[in-house]
Amino acid sequence: MKYDVLVVGGGPAGIITSVTARKVHGPGLKIGLFRPESKTLVPCGIPYMFGTLDAVDKNIMPDKPLEAAKVDIIQDEVVSLDLEAKTLKTASGSEYSFDKLVLATGSEPVVPSGLPGTDLDNVFTIRKSYAYLTEVHRRLADCRDIVIIGGGFIGAEMADELARREDRNITLIEIMDHCLWQSFDPEFCEMGEKALAEKGVKVLTGTKVLGITGDRRVEAVETSAGRFKADAVVLAIGARPNTALAAEAGLRLTPRGAVAVDSGMRTSHPDVLAVGDCAAKTDFFSGEESPVMLASVATIEARTAGANLYSVKAMLPGGSTPGAFSTVVGGLALGSAGLTETEARRRGIDVTVGLGESVDRHPGTLPGASPIKVKLVFSTMSGELLGGQVAGGAGVGEMVNVIALAVGRRMEATDLYLMPLGTHPLLTSAPTTYPVVTAAWDYLGRVLTAPSRGH
Ligand SMILES: Cc1cc2nc3c(=O)[nH]c(=O)nc-3n(C[C@H](O)[C@H](O)[C@H](O)COP(=O)(O)OP(=O)(O)OC[C@H]3O[C@@H](n4cnc5c(N)ncnc54)[C@H](O)[C@@H]3O)c2cc1C
Repeated sequence: MKYDVLVVGGGPAGIITSVTARKVHGPGLKIGLFRPESKTLVPCGIPYMFGTLDAVDKNIMPDKPLEAAKVDIIQDEVVSLDLEAKTLKTASGSEYSFDKLVLATGSEPVVPSGLPGTDLDNVFTIRKSYAYLTEVHRRLADCRDIVIIGGGFIGAEMADELARREDRNITLIEIMDHCLWQSFDPEFCEMGEKALAEKGVKVLTGTKVLGITGDRRVEAVETSAGRFKADAVVLAIGARPNTALAAEAGLRLTPRGAVAVDSGMRTSHPDVLAVGDCAAKTDFFSGEESPVMLASVATIEARTAGANLYSVKAMLPGGSTPGAFSTVVGGLALGSAGLTETEARRRGIDVTVGLGESVDRHPGTLPGASPIKVKLVFSTMSGELLGGQVAGGAGVGEMVNVIALAVGRRMEATDLYLMPLGTHPLLTSAPTTYPVVTAAWDYLGRVLTAPSRGH
């Protein structure tokens, strides 16, 4: 069967690429999208299937946008690519030809090869598969003692959601000094850990998992801090790009194993683009390869690739986009964009922070008001915003997006200090204490009043 455009992968990156391609290139193109399952999960909603939603079928990505864009959804797995002939073969034995191909094959969870016991029954990963997670959901229903290995945002959110059932003992194990350390400075990580502990999660940081034990089915997790009984284990120690197809087809991969792409999402083959978790990411500041894997970034790339099928119409500004994300643990919202202070200092960047604290309604006596805390990280000399973190209530999600835009557009402290602002008692902090503004002012106060340091 012949198509103008074939997209491999039906996650956020594949969907948005297909829809954008239709919008930009018009109704004449024949576009097909492959996915192995009849239903695609909302990936970021996965933790909530195990708690708040308590159902897998309430977390399905609607097909409506694909149907409206007249994209053929082909339920099949692509098993090989012939880039010279511009054809591909599927698991069902069909062959398709294409003019342009977009790889959106996503990522797979990492299973540590050296860790004993990962093959025992009831040791799960968070694979973004409807069938697999339906089975995990069914099996976890009977489990009381659940150990989650890995305190990144996926592990932390899974712990938080599984702990909603009061008859469970949830243990979250992180090898580093803090959970969420990749995106937050220690004081923000501690807030998250405290919120999880208050929810009843046993949080063990600086703890190494030595092995998972049991006779056929998991019974315990052995760690540097002792043995923990377990009816089930969830491994949440990271993900790697799913690029076997690309590698076999001879596309260039990066040292991290992602498909190498330029700022227009074009691969080493002129008719193949790659987007989302399978595509290489470039660190916004250093230009080096970055391990970030986020749906938000995947969709930015997809909007770029969908436009660029035949010529470059859109490029990621500066070749990349700063990572930005938010999470909620134990009722506390945490958001982060760009560099943390810890990471900036690790890179040898001279930074000065600005802090702002307020309440997200005004007056703070209004029902539902939550404290909100902002930390902005600036280049000391230039005043350029390098990153920011926010902790508080529901407003955190959008506030961190504002910070991400400011980082992405290389704004400076004065831009934020004098930022255009709309405020309302029921919706935001007061204009007098808006925490992004006061954090920028805090930075300016520090550098304007600092004695010359002579270097
Ligand atoms: C539990 C969890 C929570 C998350 N929360 C957030 C969040 O809050 N915010 C955020 O920004 N990110 C979040 N992420 C990350 C986000 O889910 C990923 O970055 C995003 O899903 C990447 O989208 P993608 O389309 O590139 O890849 P994927 O979502 O991995 O989709 C790839 C698709 O390709 C299909 N595929 C692969 N190979 C083939 C083949 N050969 N043939 C046909 N189809 C194929 C797969 O089956 C899959 O459906 C979360 C991830 C997880 C696991």
